[in-house]
Amino acid sequence: MAARCPHCNAIVSRLNLEEMTSSALFGQEWRTIAYVCPMCQKILSTQIDPIAIKTDIINAIAPNHV
Ligand SMILES: [Zn+2]
Repeated sequence: MAARCPHCNAIVSRLNLEEMTSSALFGQEWRTIAYVCPMCQKILSTQIDPIAIKTDIINAIAPNHV
């Protein structure tokens, strides 16, 4: 069974990733990635960028690791 975009109903076998920024009310920002349908360009899902989170954690616990 093929996965279909809920917006345009196209069969989707790959998604485009787009970088964006999420921000909270009082200023903190996070690098964010959006999963975008390659056919209609609508956002299917988003999440905080896991690579950026990993880098932030490493820098917090081992600031002199490089
Ligand atoms: Zn679509």
